[in-house]
Amino acid sequence: MKEFDIAFPVRHEPSDEELRQAASRALGVKADRVAEARIVRRSLDARGEILYRYRVQAVARGEALEKFTLPEYRDVTGAEPVLVIGGGPAGMFAALRLLMEGRRPVILERGKDVHARKVDVAALNQKQQVNPESNYCFGEGGAGTFSDGKLYTRSSKRGDLREVLAQLVAFGAPERILVEAHPHIGSDVLPRIVERIRACIVAHGGAYHFGEHVTDIVPFSDGRSKGWKAVCEGGATYTARQLILATGHSSRDIYRMFERKGWPLEVKGFALGVRAEHPQSLINRIQYHGKFQPGMPAAEYALVEQVDGRGVFSFCMCPGGLLVPAVTAPGEVVLNGMSNSMRNSPWANAGIVCAVDPGDVPGFDRYGVFALLEFQQSVERAMYDFSGSLRAPAQRLVDFCRAKASQGLPRSSYQPGVVNAPLHELLPAPVFERLRVAFAAFDRKMHGYYTNDALVLGTESRTSSPVRIPRDPETMCAIGLEGLYPCGEGAGYAGGITSSALDGILVAAAAAAVSPAR
Ligand SMILES: Cc1cc2nc3c(=O)[nH]c(=O)nc-3n(C[C@H](O)[C@H](O)[C@H](O)COP(=O)(O)OP(=O)(O)OC[C@H]3O[C@@H](n4cnc5c(N)ncnc54)[C@H](O)[C@@H]3O)c2cc1C
Repeated sequence: MKEFDIAFPVRHEPSDEELRQAASRALGVKADRVAEARIVRRSLDARGEILYRYRVQAVARGEALEKFTLPEYRDVTGAEPVLVIGGGPAGMFAALRLLMEGRRPVILERGKDVHARKVDVAALNQKQQVNPESNYCFGEGGAGTFSDGKLYTRSSKRGDLREVLAQLVAFGAPERILVEAHPHIGSDVLPRIVERIRACIVAHGGAYHFGEHVTDIVPFSDGRSKGWKAVCEGGATYTARQLILATGHSSRDIYRMFERKGWPLEVKGFALGVRAEHPQSLINRIQYHGKFQPGMPAAEYALVEQVDGRGVFSFCMCPGGLLVPAVTAPGEVVLNGMSNSMRNSPWANAGIVCAVDPGDVPGFDRYGVFALLEFQQSVERAMYDFSGSLRAPAQRLVDFCRAKASQGLPRSSYQPGVVNAPLHELLPAPVFERLRVAFAAFDRKMHGYYTNDALVLGTESRTSSPVRIPRDPETMCAIGLEGLYPCGEGAGYAGGITSSALDGILVAAAAAAVSPAR
């Protein structure tokens, strides 16, 4: 097998014949002796002439390219159940893996199905009505359903990303995600995929229960077997020998429950800052060096700068995206970004956040393991207290860095609206001081980025969990809690859709490796 690179102008998709000819040259055989040539990766190169670079694998006759085949989902009707709390990427992919392993997933999800959830998300944007059970974080598909649907993960240690991507394609994601260097799906397509995943789980004998907010988890033993009982807000209970906990980073009540029971928790560093919103046309001009043409993808960026020993970096950049309220309770303002598959809004937004470690918040020491969670919540509340609503405190970028009030604000994609605010005073001083240095440095990497045509809005605070539920690396169970598997972003072991999905798969495989009850 030979792997080689070819490049073509942006609007030119290589034909089968062009691939065959390139493979013939790379393999050193005549074109009719090329057995197979396939693109395994596509990335945009804007350094000189704007090109797509393709990584190609090819074999000559007598050889075959390795094929990736997923194990099949089994009919699990009547099989031993595994409770899965939370129907986000971690919970969904754990459930799919359980089907492959012949175990019956029973998903308990506090939110609504994706169809009903859309109504609540619209009310959040248009009427500022916060439903603590159904919002951008809670409901079918979890926090990934209404998102940019970026599918990259930096870590390959967690598992085989192809297992996630291949299933997403089988459930309706475009095939291009299998080869793109920076694949994304978009909020107009994700809900359909999430519904099909549910249909598959149910068709194979698994169960989905919406509106089941788990408020307590209790060990049970009936003499013959032992396991876990999940108690829901309305009083319903569900039992199984094994329980996968995939409740995401915003289910603060689950962490509180762990603390009440004296179960192990650890404080975990996270990152906090603002969302920066620029005109997409400006980002295109900078990233494509003035050579942007219609038909090219909205340009992305990724920035990082070390300031006083802490990383300041762009997070969850959404080209052609929209800012959305990612709150999960009244009295807080939290922003995040989403986009549709076309990424065609006039704005580019990204979190610009500063790493925060436990030692950075001495005033919160008294909260022990919840020091960073309380810090996170205090900033979200400070934003709300200033605006008195879901409107986001906002400032022009250069004014923010100069600690100066803005005279009028540019238009923003954030539907609940913005309020002109001294964001430089509302943010904790060490965070603000680092952000202002980093923003100026970013302009050296992306000339034109530091402009008063951009807006900064508070706050981007749900970058990852500020708490970790430690688990045994062998069994994957919470320490001292056999059969209870914390996973995904809420457990502090993942960040983002793909890494959470991979963690769900990892944990489900560990649970399934324990012999079924007789
Ligand atoms: C607006 C937005 C945009 C994003 N964009 C991207 C992106 O482009 N790319 C990317 O990689 N990541 C993105 N993320 C982050 C990504 O969505 C998360 O990292 C990922 O969803 C985490 O997966 P998870 O399954 O661990 O948790 P979650 O997705 O948070 O899912 C947890 C689920 O558990 C349910 N739940 C919580 N508590 C309980 C309970 N007590 N009982 C029952 N159910 C409960 C919740 O309702 C939720 O459905 C975005 C997030 C948001 C909010």
